[in-house]
Amino acid sequence: MPREPSHDILFEPIDIGPVRAKNRFYQVPHCNGMGYRDPTALAHMRGIKAEGGWGVVCTEQVEIHHTSDITPFIELRLWDDRDVPTLARMAEKIHEHGALAGIELAYNGLNGPNLYGREVPMAPTGFPVASFTYDPVQARTMDKEDIRNLRRWHRAAARRGREAGFDLVYVYAGHALGFFHHFLSRRYNHRTDEYGGSLENRVRILKEILTDTREEVGDTCAVPCRFSVDEIAGPDGIDRAEAEDMIGLVAELPDLWDICLAGWESDSKTSRFGPEGEQEFLYENMKSLTSKPVVGVGRYTSPDRMASLVRKGVLDLIGCARPSIADPFLPHKVENGRTDDIRECIGCNICVSGDFTMSPIRCTQNPSMGEEWRRGWHPEYFRPSRCERPVLIVGAGPAGLEAAQALGKRGYEVVLAERATDVGGRVSREAGLPGLAQWRRVRDYREGQIGKLPNVNVYLDSELSADHVLEFGFPRVVVATGARWRRDGVAHHWTRPIPVSPAMELLTPDEIMAGALPGGSSVIIWDDDHYYMGGVIAELLRKKGRDVTLMTPAAEVSTWTRNTMEQHFIQARLLEMGVEIAPHRVLDEVKDDRVVASCAFTGASRQTAADSVVLVTSRLPDNGLYRELVARRHEWNQAGIESVRCIGDADAPATIAHAVFAGRRYAEDLDEPVDSGDTVSFKREITELSAC
Ligand code: ADP
Ligand code: SF4
Repeated sequence: MPREPSHDILFEPIDIGPVRAKNRFYQVPHCNGMGYRDPTALAHMRGIKAEGGWGVVCTEQVEIHHTSDITPFIELRLWDDRDVPTLARMAEKIHEHGALAGIELAYNGLNGPNLYGREVPMAPTGFPVASFTYDPVQARTMDKEDIRNLRRWHRAAARRGREAGFDLVYVYAGHALGFFHHFLSRRYNHRTDEYGGSLENRVRILKEILTDTREEVGDTCAVPCRFSVDEIAGPDGIDRAEAEDMIGLVAELPDLWDICLAGWESDSKTSRFGPEGEQEFLYENMKSLTSKPVVGVGRYTSPDRMASLVRKGVLDLIGCARPSIADPFLPHKVENGRTDDIRECIGCNICVSGDFTMSPIRCTQNPSMGEEWRRGWHPEYFRPSRCERPVLIVGAGPAGLEAAQALGKRGYEVVLAERATDVGGRVSREAGLPGLAQWRRVRDYREGQIGKLPNVNVYLDSELSADHVLEFGFPRVVVATGARWRRDGVAHHWTRPIPVSPAMELLTPDEIMAGALPGGSSVIIWDDDHYYMGGVIAELLRKKGRDVTLMTPAAEVSTWTRNTMEQHFIQARLLEMGVEIAPHRVLDEVKDDRVVASCAFTGASRQTAADSVVLVTSRLPDNGLYRELVARRHEWNQAGIESVRCIGDADAPATIAHAVFAGRRYAEDLDEPVDSGDTVSFKREITELSAC
């Protein structure tokens, strides 16, 4: 299909210093939890982005020197020449598809306690390291020789970056993560020499490093600068006015300005806390400060909005991390007039959790993310089916929908039966909760794709029993019937039911999502789930005028959301709304009109009056259909059934990303040799042993 003429502007090439990007789609650097441990998997992941049409594809932050490692986080390393082949593999994969390859050189300094190398961290001023884990380590203040050394190391890394084949060699001064940011910010730079104090002094190192990098590789490589235009730290940090003055001092030194916010959590907010394009105000004046191209991010998924930003001269290139993770083929789809097929990011930050848990990146919307090499999955292309025997899928939640669309694209005949009158399962329900509306995109994308597949038929309002399934006689049956929240308190803390008086009004998230509200005014939410649900329910009930106490055995609300960089936003919102937070409390018993809870440390017990209790604990798989079918295995042969599988929450409740992955995995594995578990079913990279 021809593309929309209004999107043409996104396909105009643009010069970035000595190199030319073929279009305006720019995958900004983003972490992925693979780094030096999974270099080939990572190279393939970046290569797929290039295949999907991104004009520029960048690495994550790449540690440039062994005196600053960011352990336990797993990023790339360019410590010496031996690291060049790893990086070269990635540049090669990116070049295979005509994209430019960018490398983000990083010296973390104050952000790394150097847990791996055990070197003393260095910083403009010797503060305690600014890590996520309050490490009991302080950096030392750099002296002039340290600064000279650092300049030499950065030059060496730039040279290696070029040798590895990169076209853009970054100077990273963004997100309060880059060492150069620390020099710029009054918060971190208390020096009294020519590198501290006045604005000019604080910018000095950035100026030197930009000049060094340009001298070293600037004849063939572009030198972008990633820069935070607001630290959101009040008068202590870099604010917009000061950032403009700083840019004024080095405006023409980089070949491109990559504009961001500090810290990372403010730059990559979830959709619950920031809409698409929230940072757009940052870009307003940028083009008047420099003649160099400007790139900025905003979780953009709408090509109309992207084109308008370029047309209006706000941005020259559209920066995307998450939209390129959710849909590596976004540019390709815009180019071919297939904007309906864009798999839009939902802004959940499950991708970020890969980095925070040091595990390979995963994405709620794109189950192939991180699996391109190790499982051979592609975001768009599917192996044709090996046989014509049809598949019956029961349940159209994320697992069933993903299985249906992937099987359909493989060419199988699929029937998808759903009890409800619409598809989406938990996604449809949860998207109605405060701040989660964009999660509906998980359903919408799959529903849209299935609608284009004549070989997939969806039957709504169709609750299937085991008798139905046996009667229909589909050779392969997939049960994706989901899960429901427990009413007995069993979860992380209690592995046996807690005593609950029948006189107390007790609700679960399922009932609240179905429209029930607590009858009385005071509500205690016991959150032993620790992801988003407890906090979201608290928000909802507070908005409905209830006095809400959120009780949790953890130290904070929704503690797992540290991995999605939301925790402090959630806690702040609840506190601002007047939700009382009771941390370190264990719910022992629910009585007629009160709860008994004890201190998680001392066991000291306290009673608190309440009209209603909401249990946000764990879920029970809705696998009755599956269990009955297994119990009636002796009838399968006669019914023509070969296999019955249970996937997603019906198998074991987890995140939406898990359910989507399970759906894709079923579709990928169908008609492949059965995985007995005796061998590792995916590829992994094993380090070659050194001589000893
Ligand atoms: P998952 O996250 O594993 O996809 P969900 O709970 O989101 O699970 O979705 C499960 C879907 O299965 C729900 O939409 C539910 O209505 C549907 N379902 C459950 N039992 C049956 C059944 N017996 N027949 C048809 N649909 C069912
Ligand atoms: Fe977007 Fe969520 Fe995928 Fe990250 S995991 S790219 S936020 S959909």
